Amino acid sequence: MRRELLQQVRRVVIKVGSRVLTVEGGGLDYDAITRLCDEMAGLRQQGIEVILVSSGAVAAGRDALRSADTTLTIPQKQAAAAVGQPLLMQAYQQACTRHGLVTAQILLTAEDLANRNRFLNARTTLEALLTAGALPVINENDSVAVAEIKFGDNDNLSALVTSLAEADLLLILTDIEGLYSANPASDPAAELIPLVRSITREIERMAGGSGSNVGTGGMATKVTAAKKSARFGVPTILAPGKQPGVISAAVSGQEIGTLFLPATDGLNRRKHWIAYTLRPAGKVLVDAGAQRALVEKGTSLLPSGITGVEGRFERGRCVRICGPDGAEIARGLADYSSSEIQLIAGHKSAEIEQLLGYRYGDDVVHRDNLVLINSI
Ligand code: GLU
Repeated sequence: MRRELLQQVRRVVIKVGSRVLTVEGGGLDYDAITRLCDEMAGLRQQGIEVILVSSGAVAAGRDALRSADTTLTIPQKQAAAAVGQPLLMQAYQQACTRHGLVTAQILLTAEDLANRNRFLNARTTLEALLTAGALPVINENDSVAVAEIKFGDNDNLSALVTSLAEADLLLILTDIEGLYSANPASDPAAELIPLVRSITREIERMAGGSGSNVGTGGMATKVTAAKKSARFGVPTILAPGKQPGVISAAVSGQEIGTLFLPATDGLNRRKHWIAYTLRPAGKVLVDAGAQRALVEKGTSLLPSGITGVEGRFERGRCVRICGPDGAEIARGLADYSSSEIQLIAGHKSAEIEQLLGYRYGDDVVHRDNLVLINSI
């Protein structure tokens, strides 16, 4: 069953916690980083795209600064992250070079992803990096993020990145085997739970609080991250990051760690959100050919089939898509603003760059962000 579910995986977000990346007593574990990079390069060779969400900056920085303080203040942590982040990237870059793999750093705050424009910009940057064959390495932008603009922990960040990148698997690598029925450190009867069909209160209770003082996330934040990605229709695997071969074992569907199944209505929720929650900010008119392609083939909306635009809207807003008779056929999130659409309407996607001087992508509305009216 795992194998079947995971066969479809083409893009995975891998989250690695500080405990997996550091040696006992602090400092980066270069052997672990090398092994993880070898395994991620292996996935890329199989045609699976990888986005890494990595912690470890604060731990690496704290070690480099030789700080004697056992507990750091928030500014001290931010300073440690600023010192540690380049060390972390250097370690990834060095380990990836052997595979001809280039790494790219993206630092985000929660505020960035809450803003629709920045969300879309981060998405298109990620797409461009993956297309170029690079390994995006994402972390929270700790030096600017304080409480109200923070993700709080990288487990939460990894769930949001899963939705941002429209990945089809979230793999969280941590310092224990997976989710246990009780805390394995204190309860000898605790058992590993291999499969979670639905994240109930009972499951959340089992996850308890944080068990480690190196990273900020405990089991509870991992289960919350799994719950979030389940809502997007994406499975999560929680697996032991120090175990050699863990990445390929998990992605190929071997019984390792805990698999959280996606919610069955995951996709519908998003479609409902687009169709019902968002207020359309304008109209995009399309010709009969585009209407057929959208309705019968489920394609994205390209500029070539657009005959006109009504209303003024920014990129990222929800728009009505109307056929030649004026009736609404679909709703979706526009990747271009109304004034940009005016300029590219009726033209081939290949001409966008020439017409605007830049391009976000080929589609005006990507099919993942498009809901047919008759399907809801
Ligand atoms: N962003 C922090 C770091 O790189 C870690 C946050 C977390 O562990 O969740 O050290």
